[in-house]
Parts: sequence; C-alpha cells; structure tokens
Amino acid sequence: MMQYELHLYEDDLPRLEQHAETCLPAEAVSLLFGVISRNIVLVNRVELMGNESKTSLTTFSVNPEREYQLLIEAEKRGDSLVGIFHSHPAPPEPSKTDLRNMHLNPVVWLISSKLTGTWITKAYILEEENAIEIPIKYRNSIDSDL
Ligand SMILES: [Zn+2]
Repeated sequence: MMQYELHLYEDDLPRLEQHAETCLPAEAVSLLFGVISRNIVLVNRVELMGNESKTSLTTFSVNPEREYQLLIEAEKRGDSLVGIFHSHPAPPEPSKTDLRNMHLNPVVWLISSKLTGTWITKAYILEEENAIEIPIKYRNSIDSDL
C-alpha cells in the first residue's frame, strides 16, 4: 500500500499551533489547500478559521459561506481542500466524532494537542475503516516539480 506524506511549508505548523494556542480553551480549526501528486499531499496554503461551534468547546465547525468562498478561490489556483486541522484538549488522535467526519471529508486530518505541555501535531488519513498516521514533512525543492 502506498504511504502518503503531508508536505508543509516550514512556518505552517508553527502558525497552526499558535492558532490553537490563541483559541484555547476552545478547539481551533483551519483548512489546508493544495494538490495531491502520487503519494504526496502538498499544502500550498493554510487558512486559519474561526471556530463557529456554539454548542461545546470540544467540537468545531466553520462558517459555510467562508468555506465555500475559499473553495472557489482554491479552485481558481488549481488547488483543492487537502486537509482539515483542529486542536484537541485530549491526545492528538481522532475521536469517534472525528472518524465519522473523516468518512464525510476524506482528506488529511491534522490534530494538535498540548496535553503534554507542548503542542504536538499529527496527521491522519482514513484507510479502509482506520485512521492511519502519516508523516509530516517540510516542502523541499523536489516538491516544486510536482
Ligand atoms: Zn477532534
């Protein structure tokens, strides 16, 4: 089976984790746009989003109009939605709700947690019925040939 990899710009992860820090105690959410080439999920743009969830601190939702606008803009650039980021008060692993949502949105799911004192971010894709962790790497010169 092909091993997927997530390739980010070097400042993407610090930006996402800073966003998660700012949103505490609520969960933070962001959308990642880019392209998928062979086994490489290449992130071209990270959009930090407001969490619109009114029901709980441990769920997240985004403004559908803002998401639609970002999807249209991404399409014009040749990008699509390739990842969804959110933070957890729990360990950085998909919850049961996340697993259900991964079926609905089968993109890379990035989850950050500060449970151990420092932010830890992990990336997952759904393979058959399981969330599989995939490596997060930094974009390099090879990526520009994709
Ligand atoms: Zn979650």
